[in-house]
Amino acid sequence: MNQTGDQYAADQADLFISDLHLCASRPYITQAFLKFLKSTAKQARALYLLGDVFEYWAGDDDLASHQAVVDGLRGLADSGVAVYLMHGNRDFLIGHAFCAAAKLKLLPDPCVIEVHGVRTLICHGDTLCSDDLDYQAFRLKVRDKNWQTAFLQRSLTDRKEQIAAMRARSEQEKSHKASDIMDINPQTLNQHLRANDYPERVIHGHTHRPMQHNLSLDGHAITRWVLADWYEQGSYLTIDASGCHYRPIKQT
Ligand code: MN
Repeated sequence: MNQTGDQYAADQADLFISDLHLCASRPYITQAFLKFLKSTAKQARALYLLGDVFEYWAGDDDLASHQAVVDGLRGLADSGVAVYLMHGNRDFLIGHAFCAAAKLKLLPDPCVIEVHGVRTLICHGDTLCSDDLDYQAFRLKVRDKNWQTAFLQRSLTDRKEQIAAMRARSEQEKSHKASDIMDINPQTLNQHLRANDYPERVIHGHTHRPMQHNLSLDGHAITRWVLADWYEQGSYLTIDASGCHYRPIKQT
């Protein structure tokens, strides 16, 4: 630690990250993440991975392709940090074998947790983007247990080919979508907030639009923190007794 302030804050902190999109074509992000797991994250009380840690996940039988990340996460858990994972829209096929190997706990999306005494709703964020009807239809299909069972019965090579085709199609469609369609729908967020009895804080990723939003809903003050992606610069949200802070990861 080269910044005393950070070390003190991290001592009692819960850390939140999402949208790393780890993949073989961007090895520097994996390197930065492994370093983060061995340094900053080790000082934390808990680390929450709120989805899209991986660019895609073809099935837990592909664990060997991600051995360094599995080892890094397990090393963090072994050092006494509680590690939690939520599925993203890219890595929703992560299953129990991965979680057992990495020694982390899979959380449902959404869920309410208590962070330093503050009720906090956490979710990946894709369910909030309800204006994107094509995506929501796709989500409904691929989150179906029968679809997943049938998909996972195919060979790993087949699955990777199909995922590559789906991603290419999605990238092409995205380029035609208006920017606000891919952001969250405020009414949908409000429904989630009411259904979860007005948590004081919401944390999500997915939109890659990091910002703190202060809302007021039915007389309740609620703060929404959007996590950043790791494409250009890795970062995390840290929460300790002093509140929430965005921090860049340390570069070598
Ligand atoms: Mn996402």
